[in-house]
Amino acid sequence: MTSPQHHDIVVIGAGIAGASIASELLERGQTVCIVESAPNPASACSSHSYAIAHPHVGRGAPRLLRLTRIAFLMAEARWGHIWNQHGIFQPSKKDKIFNRDDVASYLQSLDHDESMAQALYAHQALQACGVNQDGIWLPRGASLNLSEATKDALKPHPKLNCYWNTSVARLEKADLGWKLFDFQNQEIMTADKVIIAAALETKKLAASIGVRLPLRPVRGQLSIFSVAADSVWTPLLPRTAISGDGYCLPSKQLADRSYEWIVGSSFDEGESDLQDWDSSDDFNREQARGLLSYAEGDISQLQKAGSFVGVRCVAGDRLPIIGALAQRPGIFLATALGSRGALWSALAAKLITAQVLEDDFALLARLGFATDLVAALAPARFFAGALATAPALGAFASNSKPILPSVPKAR
Ligand SMILES: Cc1cc2nc3c(=O)[nH]c(=O)nc-3n(C[C@H](O)[C@H](O)[C@H](O)COP(=O)(O)OP(=O)(O)OC[C@H]3O[C@@H](n4cnc5c(N)ncnc54)[C@H](O)[C@@H]3O)c2cc1C
Repeated sequence: MTSPQHHDIVVIGAGIAGASIASELLERGQTVCIVESAPNPASACSSHSYAIAHPHVGRGAPRLLRLTRIAFLMAEARWGHIWNQHGIFQPSKKDKIFNRDDVASYLQSLDHDESMAQALYAHQALQACGVNQDGIWLPRGASLNLSEATKDALKPHPKLNCYWNTSVARLEKADLGWKLFDFQNQEIMTADKVIIAAALETKKLAASIGVRLPLRPVRGQLSIFSVAADSVWTPLLPRTAISGDGYCLPSKQLADRSYEWIVGSSFDEGESDLQDWDSSDDFNREQARGLLSYAEGDISQLQKAGSFVGVRCVAGDRLPIIGALAQRPGIFLATALGSRGALWSALAAKLITAQVLEDDFALLARLGFATDLVAALAPARFFAGALATAPALGAFASNSKPILPSVPKAR
């Protein structure tokens, strides 16, 4: 029997996370092996065609604001050639008084110039993007077909090896590097470095090497609505994307003059059912009313024409888990992308590549990663002993006992 092949770098999972990391490593001249359970890339959550991408500009956690700004710039650079830059409008909360000057200086404090984010009163927003509400206009906001982006990143390359239909059941430490086993307990291959980008399944793979991760599923459904040309909704349908409580894409007129309008998404904590639910469409109809500030809108005129259902993987603190698993040298994680697959995958590509290739921290700093941001994403944040003084490239943990974060807010 021939011994299993050895690879320098193996990436487990061919969703947007694994694909972005593999592609960045290839660009840096590395040979990469990707191992995926399905027969093709983008088979799971990354089969999503309607993902929006924008920096987070709401009030809240300063690290999230800084991280999404950096990640957005990275996503724009990475996916700009295939994304639809239609802009995104973020309406102000209805229960808050909107003061344009205050919001403008807040945006400046986040380092957003006018090309990135503009505070607008309703009449200005109507002119800029056709939405008659106070709020923030993000002209560079875009949507991305994650499936297309994943496939684009994994297009044939002389240094890329792909193992399709291959599920990794567990990992085991080898003398040098790591062994990967399938569900028949056959050794598939060995590797110096293993990047686990298997969304929720990362939890089982990490558990196989004694590391517990607080990951859980959050089911989501987007609804594709058909709106008749003479519907009361038609004059209000947006020509830009809107992101607030839920989100919608710009409406599109079809050959029969009706409109297609995609609105989402439901947020079902702890659920992983991939069936289509009528209740989720009803939820999205209500979100549609909220996004357009059209409380009296007759939701029966939003006819269902299709849907996308996926299961997000989230960590308790709603930040992604990206970085070296310092207590298992040679293992790296890129998971818990939650509802920001486009942004976090672009950031994971840069951060994981820097860590795998052991670039110095100065390079990461040039990309905008301060030490505290790297530590905020590191797997070590969940383990007892993870300190604010964690080292720049991945932080350390004294053991693998998770500190379970408090219950998060739904988005
Ligand atoms: C309703 C909904 C709306 C969303 N909206 C947005 C949005 O607007 N903007 C945005 O940016 N993101 C959005 N997202 C999130 C985005 O879709 C995800 O964050 C992203 O697709 C996750 O990518 P991933 O690569 O981590 O996971 P996945 O795409 O799930 O990929 C993981 C891969 O690992 C493989 N795998 C698993 N276990 C193994 C194993 N043991 N061995 C080998 N392979 C394995 C799987 O087959 C899969 O291909 C949304 C998600 C949903 C559900």
